[in-house]
Amino acid sequence: MRQSPRKISLAEWDTRYAEMKKEGLPEPAYGGRLSRHVNNGDYRLKRLSFDNSPASLDLWNFLLTEDERLHESRKAGRKIVGTMKDLGTVPVMAYAFPNITAFYPDGAWWIPCVMEMSAGLLRVADSLGVDESFCPVRAMLGAFVTEAHFPIPDLLVCSVGATCDDFSAIAQRLEAMGHAIVWWEMPHRRTPLTGEPSVRMPGGLEAPVDQVAFVRGQLAKIRHVLEELAGAALDDDQLSAAIRVANEARDLLERLRRLVFTAKRCPLPATELLIAEMLTIHFCSDRDECLRVLGGLLAEVELRVAAGEGLLDADAARIFWVNPVADVRALTLFEECGGRLCGTDNMFLHALDRIPSTGDPLECLAMSALSDPMVGSATDRALRICSDAKTFGAEGIVVSRIPGASHCALEGTIIADVVRSRSDLPVVELEVPPVSDAFSSSLSTRMQALVESIKQRRRP
Ligand code: SF4
Repeated sequence: MRQSPRKISLAEWDTRYAEMKKEGLPEPAYGGRLSRHVNNGDYRLKRLSFDNSPASLDLWNFLLTEDERLHESRKAGRKIVGTMKDLGTVPVMAYAFPNITAFYPDGAWWIPCVMEMSAGLLRVADSLGVDESFCPVRAMLGAFVTEAHFPIPDLLVCSVGATCDDFSAIAQRLEAMGHAIVWWEMPHRRTPLTGEPSVRMPGGLEAPVDQVAFVRGQLAKIRHVLEELAGAALDDDQLSAAIRVANEARDLLERLRRLVFTAKRCPLPATELLIAEMLTIHFCSDRDECLRVLGGLLAEVELRVAAGEGLLDADAARIFWVNPVADVRALTLFEECGGRLCGTDNMFLHALDRIPSTGDPLECLAMSALSDPMVGSATDRALRICSDAKTFGAEGIVVSRIPGASHCALEGTIIADVVRSRSDLPVVELEVPPVSDAFSSSLSTRMQALVESIKQRRRP
């Protein structure tokens, strides 16, 4: 059933799937042919290429069946919590309750891409006065109106404060439409003053003790709200256990990322790695299955690396990628242009870093939340990018701008300035719209230019 790693089309996956079924492919309940998702409107799949391993098939199927899982959870009597904006914090706590399923309505961000605009979510957002001057997260408004993508949650929680203007405005619009939201505040993370008590956080940043205590207080409020919804108290032992499980997922992902970024030959395509990172934020609505899927992917990658197998050209340019792409097809294009991932910052590194696990669990979670790269300065973020790029041996950096995103107007310049002051790595900025076909030649030109300049720099 195992084959040498290769990128294949959706049609090739159908043939491979039929062969694997004959050979007795064991499948999870959500398994099946990948192409069946096109019948549900996921047309973008026809324009992508995929890793050919059974582990990747599980990964894609798991991702693309999340809506079904949420509806099943509701039918089974579980409470559905929509957690918004914090990416990786409240779900850790929510999954400590046996009768709560948490998910990110923000994930609607990718629906315009995956469904090639056919769902009409951006049109709905337009009609509500949230036009293209906002980032693709405005699709979330459309998803709440159409109710065609996820069940309306029993509870919505959202972090505000040091968040982007786009999300704050859109969440406020959602509340005005009648969806009650429990808000919790995230302060802008600041550098401790000289002599001020501070604490070292995941990712190596320092934050004032006072700020950690403040976030802890905010999360205590959310814990109480979740307890009321679940009808049961959550004690520290249960929360610590939930942090341990979250760290299991993060450990699997850390090993996976390290191998993908540093192996001699690239053992996994960029799109599959992006999905693996996304799963870790909220377990894709099934914590146990998320661990199994990540474990399967890691096992496949470990086998490939041990066998010296890989995808892409052996001399692919090793590039650090900043920000998620609104159109995942751009990552396929990136690899066709001769690049491979060598580090990522998809705006949620705090959801990938291990959560501290000693002491008060709520404080541990607060430290994790406060290490969000998007709640501090762009310079802090750029310094982490420089450090990770060095660790993984990146030869260049792509800053992928998100159309309409308020933070993208300046951050590319700041990141490029910091990178240039600390290294001689070339930096390229791109903008990737949700369906980027019309821009593919200009995107290719910029990516090829970066790849060529990297290869030129390798010459003695
Ligand atoms: S502006 Fe950026 S951080 Fe804010 S919702 Fe959009 S992509 Fe996310």
